[in-house]
Amino acid sequence: MEHITLEGLGRPSSSIGVGQEIHALAERLFPICRSITGDGVRQTLDILSEQVDLDRHEIPTGTQLFDWTVPKEWNIHSASIIGPDGKTVVDFADSNLHIVNYSLPFKGILPLNELKSHIHTLPEQPQLIPYRTSYYAATWGFCVAHERVATMPDGLYLVEIDAELKDGSLAYGEHLHRGQTEREFLLSAHICHPSLANDNCSGLALLATFAKSLKERKTRYSYRFLFAPGTIGSIAWLSRNEDQARLIDHGLVLSCLGDAGSPSYKRSRRGDAFIDRAMAHVLGREAGAKLIDFSPYGYDERQYCSPGFDLPVGMFQRSVHGTFPEYHTSADNLDFIRPEHLEDSFRILTEVIDIVEGDWTPLNLCPKGEPQLGKRGLYAALGGQPSSGATSMALLWVLNLADGRYSLLSMAERSGLPFRELAAAARLLADHGLLADAAP
Ligand code: ZN
Repeated sequence: MEHITLEGLGRPSSSIGVGQEIHALAERLFPICRSITGDGVRQTLDILSEQVDLDRHEIPTGTQLFDWTVPKEWNIHSASIIGPDGKTVVDFADSNLHIVNYSLPFKGILPLNELKSHIHTLPEQPQLIPYRTSYYAATWGFCVAHERVATMPDGLYLVEIDAELKDGSLAYGEHLHRGQTEREFLLSAHICHPSLANDNCSGLALLATFAKSLKERKTRYSYRFLFAPGTIGSIAWLSRNEDQARLIDHGLVLSCLGDAGSPSYKRSRRGDAFIDRAMAHVLGREAGAKLIDFSPYGYDERQYCSPGFDLPVGMFQRSVHGTFPEYHTSADNLDFIRPEHLEDSFRILTEVIDIVEGDWTPLNLCPKGEPQLGKRGLYAALGGQPSSGATSMALLWVLNLADGRYSLLSMAERSGLPFRELAAAARLLADHGLLADAAP
């Protein structure tokens, strides 16, 4: 196979200010009331499709998807609680987290004690509104700051939820960047959360921006970007693309990419897939980074890594979902995600894709003793030639390990040197006729 060197690739359009660009996009997505179905998902896809072309799909309510069925479509217009004094206590217009996502419509007058059984709070974080869903249980409810509920006097409350739950469809979008081969890299982000910034406006905005930057880049792999509601969306894609799924060689689920936490990676179910090794190599050089073994709890990697597929798909996050106090609360807002952290996540993703694109297995054509580098003008490189990017140690490691059994990533793992230095060294040596591709 023809190998692509890193220098042969177009770079992402500009990483200067890319954090601001991602943040600005997340800011546009943030106010929309999304759910697993409904117009919020479509509005979000509208905005994402300004960045990249999206193939959009609508799957009708009632469609069977493996063991799941597309639920009724949910849309909400307004919701409020009005107190005994006629004042509005809770208003969906102030925050879309106020309503339990997928709430049934309701209108009625209730005494406080009865109303309270429909109100969710966070007593430990009394100022924050929790995020709750009831996708698969027919009920209605509100989410309110605990301290606000504490101030509600006894009496009768007027509750009104103007929502509809009816036959419709499940929407999702995908974008394919075609590479030289049909083998694919899947990048997947969930699109079903309402006004929560890190989980997962950050993932949607980062992936759309990354997809846009990839347009300029000639790649070996094809890159499939999937923007789908959590669980049911990835199951929908898998059930409609069983053959296509067999083409996936690498994959990442992305979420929570904008907070100040160190980067983290959860391995695929396989645990030793190429993506697991590439992520481990990149994060191994990041301060405080966490590598976590696979577990069947989390986001859509649960579906991609279900035993019927067992795809090499891991999860890239900064702070791990469920472990930070802002998670699934109104504190997961646009201040919680910062351009510099989004930019850092973008850089890490770029480095991983550089490895996937740039890995190859060199064969030393002059393996008996070290080749004489001086007569080939490579001695200067040993002193550290800035233009080549190849360091002396990288040249020596590549020459030594190029017995046809080590790819550049394997060399990086064994030597502890950055992949990019080894790739630069290998290119330099190949240009001087000292290396061939062991698997042409
Ligand atoms: Zn979530």
